[in-house]
Amino acid sequence: MANPLARAAFIAAAHTPKQLPPDGGREVTFAGRSNAGKSSALNALCNQNALARTSKTPGRTQQLVYFEVEPGKYLVDLPGYGYAKVPLDLRAHWEAFIETYFRKREALAGMIVVMDIRHPLRDYDRQMLAFANARGVSAHCLLTKADKLGRGQQMQTLAAVRKEMPETATVQVFSAESKIGVDEARGIVCGWLGF
Ligand code: GDP
Repeated sequence: MANPLARAAFIAAAHTPKQLPPDGGREVTFAGRSNAGKSSALNALCNQNALARTSKTPGRTQQLVYFEVEPGKYLVDLPGYGYAKVPLDLRAHWEAFIETYFRKREALAGMIVVMDIRHPLRDYDRQMLAFANARGVSAHCLLTKADKLGRGQQMQTLAAVRKEMPETATVQVFSAESKIGVDEARGIVCGWLGF
């Protein structure tokens, strides 16, 4: 079957609520700490080499980056920012924006949380899962870079993470490198988008 996500293309970047595309469609938001492997995961799911590079453009580190799959169906890249270098007022603005987004965005159909399988469930990840849980929005975690571990360790981590997550969230192993779990993750994202 053709991969609908292969059609994803950059459409907008939003730093304030007014810059968001009209609410009311369906969108899946991708969260992950810097370097977790989020861009690689997005690229693998969309079968594209450089899609998520757009999100790493300097100046976009505090923007929600929208990729349109088809009108009204979006993938949203939530940059995994490093806070240290961000001035306090900007940081407060950004946090307020993100909080409002997760609280109010009607189109939010699901959240993917990308975590390095060797460093899962850090504070940032828990915060994102809490946002989804509070809203009753589905969340699915990718334990990526799974190719860095043997099968036994992968399964151990999977079981440990599953135990610690909110009951409503799901989790799988993933690798953009060796393509472990790509079909499974794509199936979930496509389901949330209504394909
Ligand atoms: P982001 O900051 O979360 O978007 O992370 P990137 O996707 O840019 O990846 C960060 C680093 O991890 C890069 O050097 C990638 O090549 C590497 N990486 C990402 N995914 C994988 C994976 O599945 N396996 C391995 N071995 N490396 C990965």
